[in-house]
Amino acid sequence: MYKELSAETLSKIANTYGTPVYVYDTDKISHQFEQLNKEFAKTNTRFFYASKALTNINILQHILNIGCNVDCSSINEAKLAIHTGFEPTNILYTSNGIDFSEIEEAAALGVHINIDSLSNLEKFGKKFGHSYPVGIRLRPNIMAGGNLKISTGHQSSKFGIPIEQLNEILQLVKKYNLYIRGLHIHTGSEIKDVAVFMKVADIFVDLIPHFPEVSFLDLGGGFKVAYKEKDPTTDIAELAHEINIFLTGLEKTHLRQFECWFEPGKYLVSEAGYLVTKVNVLKDFNNIAFAGVDSGLNHLIRPMMYDAYHRIENISNTSGNKKNYTITGNICETDTFGSDRLLHEVREGDFLAIYNAGAYGFEMSSNYNARFKPAEVMVKEGIPQLIRKRDVFADLLRNQTPLI
Ligand SMILES: *Cc1c(COP(=O)(O)O)cnc(C)c1O
Repeated sequence: MYKELSAETLSKIANTYGTPVYVYDTDKISHQFEQLNKEFAKTNTRFFYASKALTNINILQHILNIGCNVDCSSINEAKLAIHTGFEPTNILYTSNGIDFSEIEEAAALGVHINIDSLSNLEKFGKKFGHSYPVGIRLRPNIMAGGNLKISTGHQSSKFGIPIEQLNEILQLVKKYNLYIRGLHIHTGSEIKDVAVFMKVADIFVDLIPHFPEVSFLDLGGGFKVAYKEKDPTTDIAELAHEINIFLTGLEKTHLRQFECWFEPGKYLVSEAGYLVTKVNVLKDFNNIAFAGVDSGLNHLIRPMMYDAYHRIENISNTSGNKKNYTITGNICETDTFGSDRLLHEVREGDFLAIYNAGAYGFEMSSNYNARFKPAEVMVKEGIPQLIRKRDVFADLLRNQTPLI
């Protein structure tokens, strides 16, 4: 059983490295990957960590150490993966809205490429013909995911080539003798229903006869983790069972092997991460007690952007009387981390930990209000180590050039 980092451990780290600070526990990442491997042990599956959730190179190194592959949403993520030491064949590059030159760069690195538009597919065909195997990202017209902002497969989504354009795809495949090795459909994030993945699998069943060289079917990421107690999560065991049946059926029909690929981001790193903040001010009036912390939407934007719920605890006072607080940041904008949260009595100077902050936390942070990005600390086998320094004033000036 995995045990989350204790209030004591997190407080110690906050005292040593200052606040606000992101803390990541590699044991949790390993544990999540082991869960996937255990459930999918009988199934021909490959996992690619969607690195856009958290790209710190020490996290990437850990992903590499545990034997997981990596999925990149930009050429720079692919370069970070190469820098970390991933083999190009274990890197998947699934980007959208990009100039063809970025795809050429990815091909020069030798990574797996999923193409997201007809125009880039045509350019790819012209340049590479049959010489470079490639995947196609399709838009299936499935509405799925936690909310519209993280839903990517519906019929007004920008992602992928609309499935209605299958004929156009096939014409390009024929014209340039393209080697289509994979089909890719990612319907969004926080998909709790196994049925959504199986709907995608059904679409693949219909598509495969058109693509005789296809060997991998990429169902994307989006496994849901619990943000609250009793939150529904993706049933990985059930998914593995259904995918196994699906693959067995395909292999019977086509008398050859297929692989399923998945691109979990949040599932691997979300629960491994904590944002530890310090309470700067308390304002208690008229039945609202605000606890104002030394962080804000510049460090964790999910509550404001997605109305995401993150558990918050007072890690400096773990036994006092409980009371309702509204936890807010210090940005000149309403940046509420949580409303009406029952916490052990909060005093100015206390540390509050925000849980489940490993995915899309630091990665979406900014210098808004000219504030510094937080430090990052990694706990590896129980030992904390700094893996990114907090910004300093010079960082705010670094790329600015004075007019002459
Ligand atoms: C963001 C993304 C993922 C990961 O999504 P999670 O919800 O973090 O699992 C996987 N694949 C693609 C193409 C993505 O854009």
